[in-house]
Amino acid sequence: MKYLIQKFGGTSLGDDEKRRKVASIVIGAKHNGFLPVVVVSAIGRSGDPYATDTLLSYAREHKKEPTPREADLLMSCGEIISGVIMSTTLQKSGCPAVFLTGAQAGIITDGTYNNARILKVDPRHIIRHCREGKVVVVAGFQGVSEAGEITTLGRGGSDTTAAALGVALGAVSVDIYTDVDGIMTADPRIVTDARPLETVTYNEICQLAREGAKVIHPRAVEIAMQKGIPLRIKCTFSEAPGTLVTSQDEINKGAIDITRDRTITGITHIPDITRIKINTGEAANIPAFQGRIFNALALAGISVDFINVHPEVVYFTVKNADAGKAVKILENMEIKPEVLPDCAKVAAVGAGMTGVPGVMARIVDALAEEKVLILQSADSYTTIWVLVKKEDMEKSIRALHRRFDPCR
Ligand code: ADP
Ligand code: MG
Repeated sequence: MKYLIQKFGGTSLGDDEKRRKVASIVIGAKHNGFLPVVVVSAIGRSGDPYATDTLLSYAREHKKEPTPREADLLMSCGEIISGVIMSTTLQKSGCPAVFLTGAQAGIITDGTYNNARILKVDPRHIIRHCREGKVVVVAGFQGVSEAGEITTLGRGGSDTTAAALGVALGAVSVDIYTDVDGIMTADPRIVTDARPLETVTYNEICQLAREGAKVIHPRAVEIAMQKGIPLRIKCTFSEAPGTLVTSQDEINKGAIDITRDRTITGITHIPDITRIKINTGEAANIPAFQGRIFNALALAGISVDFINVHPEVVYFTVKNADAGKAVKILENMEIKPEVLPDCAKVAAVGAGMTGVPGVMARIVDALAEEKVLILQSADSYTTIWVLVKKEDMEKSIRALHRRFDPCR
């Protein structure tokens, strides 16, 4: 049995015409001898009637947040609505289909509301329906805890559902359908001449996804990678071949090593971050003082990034949304932080940069030409990050994309 997971994002399901296009893709796979298992996200994007954020906004009256448990029950409705409509569309097209919630599909998670982790998948019901000749449509982004509570998987959770089902069913591929032609060398909304990448390794795409290329969730990549299930990122609305994500070994078997001739695979960005600077020079015991800062933030569950520790000064970044809380914690410790809101992290990612001299020089040079001030930088074997002001973000992404011409 050749299972094929086909995941469709919210923008692929927005109206009846789009859903009929989705149905034709699924039916095409069935005709080609696959057993398609379809994973759906909620319909549309923020602002659309049943999108995840819209559902939450209904419960947020008078600024009172629903409890995490109730929020999950509410959010899980988005994928249920979308899945029922999709299975009905398939049936109307003459294709036997059945819809299953995450719980019915056997997606078992831990009990962390809003950000649950899939512990195991019991695909029994999916297999039974497939054997009966039906296309199974599964609600993405949701599961059930061992205590029987409905949970959701956090941002990009439908990608994770698709990857977990791919592993549980030993699928030939997990195909992620979206509104762009694959994984691009930069966000196509910012770089108009960004190009789709033909083949990338799991590691590269994980890195791109973590650094902000939101087209696939990094957790989904990690899950698929563990069992070597290929991922393909494709566009619902075009015939473009899309991006194949696989292991370096598989790529080498094809005799072309794509990472060898490209230094940079893609340029990514994460907006809406705040840089915090603390002068530590006056403290009596500087190492202990530095330790107290990071411990206090960790205790409050605030994730810090871009950490730069010097004897006289400590720099780090937090999400804009966490900045107020972070400052309050620091002020309670009698620390007066210098706060620079609205920064963005821009990264050049590429396994091919390892051992190549001069990459940082080219980045600094490209940004200097655009008169962009680099606030901070950091690097690893495969990534170089720069922190810039938000108003410089798009300019920086375009400048780096031009300079490295990724993919060529
Ligand atoms: P879906 O609803 O299909 O899950 P997402 O909004 O999660 O769609 O992801 C697709 C979007 O990701 C694209 O519309 C694109 O603007 C954005 N994106 C950001 N970086 C990249 C990239 N490097 N390659 C492709 N898309 C990207
Ligand atoms: Mg997505």
